[in-house]
Order: sequence, then structure tokens, then C-alpha cells
Amino acid sequence: MAGEFELIKQYFKPLSSGLSESEVGIGDDGAVLNLPAGKQQVVVTDTMVCGIHFLEQASAYDLGWKVLAVNLSDLAAMGAEPAFFSLALTMPESDDEWLGEFARGLSDLANKYRISLIGGDTTKGPLTVTVTANGWVDSQKAVLRSGAQVGDVICVTNNIGDGALGLKVALDTLPASTIDGAPQDDLEGLLNALNRPEPQLSVSDLVKSYATSAIDISDGLLADLNHILEASRKQLNLIGLQAQIEVNKIPLSKLANQYVQLADDWSPVLAGGDDYQLCFTIKKKDLETFIHEALAKGVKVSAIGKVMEGEQGVKLLKGGKSFSSDNLKGYLHF
Ligand code: ADP
Ligand code: MG
Repeated sequence: MAGEFELIKQYFKPLSSGLSESEVGIGDDGAVLNLPAGKQQVVVTDTMVCGIHFLEQASAYDLGWKVLAVNLSDLAAMGAEPAFFSLALTMPESDDEWLGEFARGLSDLANKYRISLIGGDTTKGPLTVTVTANGWVDSQKAVLRSGAQVGDVICVTNNIGDGALGLKVALDTLPASTIDGAPQDDLEGLLNALNRPEPQLSVSDLVKSYATSAIDISDGLLADLNHILEASRKQLNLIGLQAQIEVNKIPLSKLANQYVQLADDWSPVLAGGDDYQLCFTIKKKDLETFIHEALAKGVKVSAIGKVMEGEQGVKLLKGGKSFSSDNLKGYLHF
């Protein structure tokens, strides 16, 4: 069993290799980092507590991946490029096998997006992991929640709802009738969406160039879109800012579509959370360019609705007709 300093050296020091010679990472009282000219720093932090943000049986690898992924997802939504991160790890005991897997998950994602670990803290207690990630964005170019304009198109990346359905798979609460005949690979895909979300950093530069507002979907599409509406309404000084969403346009995986149809339940898609896809607004004239350029980076972008002046909140349409559902009470204003 490694002691505190040994475990930092063995498991976490290797993740700090991306720093330049003039910078100081792990090992001193603080990290010392160079600031690029013409950029602003974007700082995000997210904590995951065992039993609340992840299941007790979650693998150490997945936890290492996800705690960094959810932070990188925030950077992507701001239009920032990732630079470095710190890690505060609280665990009940020092378990070499667990630490090795945790560090492997963390470093697989850190290497993919070239982000260096610059320090942290290690303490004993109930399993809790906090990452603070830092990124750069061109000065005054950060994409905020408050920039949506009347007439903008509302878009999302990839598919929505797989993370929330993955949680149902993990908890074994997905009714068998709704997944009848689903290949094992599709079920694994749902679990993967839950456990190893991919931060949408490959389009963060596009978001920076074209989006008028953006948010990453962590609490569910409706809740997060409402954050955009609320922040933008204030900025625009309007009485009400409305998003009209056509639910049939929300991109779903094959299995999510099957679930929604058979269970007649849209809640994993609209209110599920754990998507880590981006929801953003964009001017109509920029939409085609964005879709085309995102596709070249392997990211599907779907237009799902528009921003209008009107009663505050999200209004759902299905086939053009007003849509609401008992499962969504508490999430919908209409
Ligand atoms: P101090 O007592 O001065 O706060 P620590 O003993 O907490 O220093 O940490 C020693 C060094 O190891 C520091 O550079 C710190 O940033 C780094 N460190 C501690 N825990 C972690 C961790 N979980 N991941 C990465 N670096 C860590
Ligand atoms: Mg310390």
C-alpha cells in the first residue's frame, strides 16, 4: 500500500508531463504556469461523490475518466481549449489496484485532449473526487449562457438521452418490454454514454466562432436550456424569452427511440441529465456551416427549435402541435 507521497509520485506525477521547462507542476507548494498572451483563462470545477454522482459499483477507470470529462465538457461549452487541471482526491483507503485503474482512466482522457495535471490534494475520507480544469479562450470570445437572441436556432450535438437510459441499465430499472430484442452492443452503448461521456471539445472552436450562447447538458435538456433562456432574457431585458422545441427533431439513438415509443416516456431525453452534449444557439445564417464543419470532426449537430419572444420557458411541440407529458411535470412551464 503506497503512502501519500509515494502514491502521488507513482500514479499522478506521470500525468503532469505536458508542462514546459519554465513551468512547475506537481511537487512544490503550488504550480507555476505561463499565461498565453491575448487569452483569457476559463476555470471550471466539478465534484463527484460516491453514491450521489456515481454508483458505488462504478469502476475506478470510469470514475477517473468521467470526473475529468464532465469538467472538459464545461470548457467545451465555453468555447475554450483545455490547458491543465488539478485533482482533489478523498478516499477511504489507499488501494493500489483502485488507484492504478483510476489514474489510467484519468490519463486516457487527459492524453486524448493534451491536458496536464498540475497538482492537487490527497486526503482520507468517503470517496469523493474533485477536478478543477483550466482552459484558454481568445480574449472576450468566451461563449456565455446569456447570448441567445430572438430568432436564433437551437441545436444539440450527437444524441440525447443515452446517459439517463444508461443509468436505468446500470440500476436494472429499464422495463424489459422496452428493450426487447436490443443487441447487447446497444445496451453497452448506453452504459458507455453514462460511464465514459465524451466531452465535445472537438467542436469548442466552432462554438467559439459561431454560437451566440451555449451550455453543456448535465442536468437534462429542459433544465439546461432554461438556464440559457433565463440568462439571455435578462441580458435582452425582455419580459419573456421562449424556446420552441420540436421533440421529433431531438436526435435519439436507436434504442432511445425504441424506449421513448414503447414506454411513452420522454423524461430520459428531456429531463434525464448525464448527457454531456452541447446545447447552443446560433444565427440561422451560420447553421449550415456549423453542421458541415462539425460533421467533418465527427460530430452530428441537429437543429431542434428556435428562440422567440413570448412566455418565458421551453415550449414543446410534437409534429407541430403543443406537447406535454405527466412525466415532465416540474420541468415544464407549459
Ligand atoms: P502541501 O502540504 O504543501 O499542500 P501536499 O502534500 O498536499 O502539499 O502535496 C504535495 C504535492 O503533490 C503538491 O504539489 C500537490 O499539488 C501534489 N498533489 C497532492 N495530491 C495530488 C493529487 N491527488 N493529484 C495530483 N497532485 C497532487
Ligand atoms: Mg496540500
